[in-house]
Amino acid sequence: MSKVLIIGAGGVGGVVTHKCADDSDTFSEIVLASRTLSRCEKIQSQVRELRGREIEIAQVDADDVAQTVALIKRVQPALVINVALPYQDLPLMDACLEAGVDYLDTANYEPPDEAKFEYKWQWDYQGRFESAGIMALLGSGFDPGVTNVFCAYAQKHLFDEIDYVDILDCNGGDHGHPFATNFNPEINIREITQRGRYWENGEWVEIDPMSQSRMFDFPEVGERKAYLLYHEELESLVKHIDGLKRIRFWMTFGDEYLTHLRVLQNVGMTRIDPVEYEGREIVPIQFLKALLPDPSTLGENYTGKTSIGCLIEGSKDGKPRKVFIYNVCDHEESWKEVRAQAVSYTTGVPTMVGAKMMLTKRWQGNGVFNIEQLDPEPFLEELAVRGLPWHVKEM
Ligand code: NDP
Repeated sequence: MSKVLIIGAGGVGGVVTHKCADDSDTFSEIVLASRTLSRCEKIQSQVRELRGREIEIAQVDADDVAQTVALIKRVQPALVINVALPYQDLPLMDACLEAGVDYLDTANYEPPDEAKFEYKWQWDYQGRFESAGIMALLGSGFDPGVTNVFCAYAQKHLFDEIDYVDILDCNGGDHGHPFATNFNPEINIREITQRGRYWENGEWVEIDPMSQSRMFDFPEVGERKAYLLYHEELESLVKHIDGLKRIRFWMTFGDEYLTHLRVLQNVGMTRIDPVEYEGREIVPIQFLKALLPDPSTLGENYTGKTSIGCLIEGSKDGKPRKVFIYNVCDHEESWKEVRAQAVSYTTGVPTMVGAKMMLTKRWQGNGVFNIEQLDPEPFLEELAVRGLPWHVKEM
C-alpha cells in the first residue's frame, strides 16, 4: 500500500493515473499535480466516472524545485512519477533528492534551448542518489521502456550472444487530422528533425535527418516505411547489452506527415530559438504547439493500431537466431478503457508497471538505473496483465 505523486496531466499522465487507480492494492492513494490545475480536474473526474476512485489533485510548477519539495513534503509519497516534459527531469530529480523520495520518468532530459538528448545529465546524479539511499528509474515508457526490457529479456533468455538490434516503432493509426503529433508536439518535432544516429562496431554513425529508410512488415499493421532516427534508448542499451555489433532505431511516418513537416521546417515554424514578433519574443515551435491538436484530445476518433518491437539477431546454442519481440495496441480499445490514444496508452501502462515494480520492492536499489538493468520477468508479466500483451516471433 503506497501513496504516489504523479506530475504532469497530459496524455501520458492521464493513462498513468487511470492505470494506478485500477490497482488500489499497490497505489492506495494517488495525487496528480501539474502546471494547469484544470487538466488535473479533467482527469480526476474521468477517474471518478470510469473507475469510481477519488484522487487528490494539486497545482505545481515542476521547474521550481522549492515548490515541488514543498508539495512532496506535504503529500509524503513513496514515489514521484514524472510524466511532465523532459525539461522537468533535472528539477524533479533535485526535488526528490532534497525530499528523500524515489523517482521515475519516461524520457531523458533535454535542455530547452538545444535539441539534444543524452543520459549524461541524469547519469551524473548516480552518486547523489546512491548516497541519499534512494532510487531513480529512467525511461519507463514504451520506447524507451518496454523496448529496453525486451532487449534485457532477450539477453537473459533467448540468446547467448546478441549481435544486432533494430527497434521498430510503427503507429499504423489514423486520427483524422491532416497533421498532428501523438505526444507533446514540441518534443516530438525536436526529436524527428535532428540528425539521425546509430551505433555500429563501437562507434556512433551520424546521418542526415530522415535520409535512411526501409520497408518492414509490422504484425497486425502490414508493410510500412520506417525511417532511421536517433532515440535515447540506444545510448543506454549500448552500455548494457553485451557484445552488440549494431543497434538502430526506426520509426514509421506517412508521406502526408513528412510533407507537412518539410513545409513547416522550410518556413521556420520548427525553430527552437526565439524570434521577435511585434515587439515580443516568441519561439516558433512553441507557437506551432499552440496551433496543433492537443495529443490528449486525439483519442476519440483514432482508429488502427500501434505495432512496436525489437528485431534481434544473434546466436543461441551455437546456432543463428533472429526474433521479433513486440506488442500491438489498438487506438479504439485504448480510448474505451482510459480515454486516450494508443501512443499515450503504450507509454502510460509501462510507467504504472515500473512504478509497481518499485513500490512492491521487486525492483530496488540505491542510485540511478536504466530500466534494462533490472530483472525483466516481473515487469513483462505485469505488463501483459495490465493491457500490453507481448509476443516473440521467430524470424
Ligand atoms: P503532454 O504535453 O500531453 O503533457 C505534459 C504535461 O506536463 C502537461 O500537462 C503539462 O502542463 C505538464 N507540464 C509541463 N511543464 C510543466 C511544469 N513546469 N510543471 C508541471 N507540469 C508541467 O505530453 P505527453 O503526456 O504526451 O508526454 C509526457 C511525457 O512522456 C513527455 O516527457 C514525453 O517525452 C514522454 N513520452 C515518452 C514516451 C516513451 O515511450 N518513453 C512516448 C511518449 C511520450 P500544461 O497542461 O500546463 O502544459
